[in-house]
Amino acid sequence: MKKELIFLGPPACGKGTQTNKLAQYLNLPHIDTGSLLRAEIKNETENGMIAKTFIDKGNLVPVELVASIIKDRLSKDDCKEGYILDGYPRSLEQAEMLEVINKEINGSEEVDFRAIYFELDQSVLVSRIVNRRSCAKCGEIYNLKSKPAKVEGICDKCGGELVQRKDDNEEIAKARFETYFHETAPLIDYYKSKLKLRTINADGTIDEVWERLLEVVK
Ligand code: AMP
Repeated sequence: MKKELIFLGPPACGKGTQTNKLAQYLNLPHIDTGSLLRAEIKNETENGMIAKTFIDKGNLVPVELVASIIKDRLSKDDCKEGYILDGYPRSLEQAEMLEVINKEINGSEEVDFRAIYFELDQSVLVSRIVNRRSCAKCGEIYNLKSKPAKVEGICDKCGGELVQRKDDNEEIAKARFETYFHETAPLIDYYKSKLKLRTINADGTIDEVWERLLEVVK
């Protein structure tokens, strides 16, 4: 059965690392709206230019813009068996939008849809954000404290340069948390009421969280 997995959790809760790993494990595409939007910005598309003004402030990009990007992506052939969706939906409006998009794509096909919530205390998160680095070439995620690269500034996997995301500073991080608590956190109850929510404790090593994640995606 087609597996549609979406992921909820505050910024820097570790979703990116775990969902990348899960996508490889389940052989499903990893779709991450933050990266899709950053690619639009890099390519200087019209959507990218609009998105940039919101991302730079830690705000959500307009609903229609993200929906059109997501719909295009979920309609691709590699999503036929399912997908790992990271960073979407991020508001009730987007959750409803996703249901419409999924229905349009799936028709009457039965699917296994689950929302997986990474639960983690906020105090750990700001420190994770300011220490986060990622490879400009392959996207691998590092942390200066908990997961440093073997050679500082260089990706272990591909030798690419490690960079800090522009919105990973303390001021913008705070705005992203506010956005998360106002807009995204209500989705936890939304999916709970639909009996689609699975919660995992996201406090632990990468391996510990991975074991917990495998339990809820079986
Ligand atoms: P992320 O890489 O998931 O932390 O996303 C970085 C930024 O991209 C967010 O702070 C938002 O400005 C924007 N963004 C990512 N996903 C969405 C979404 N589903 N809806 C609106 N904006 C988004």
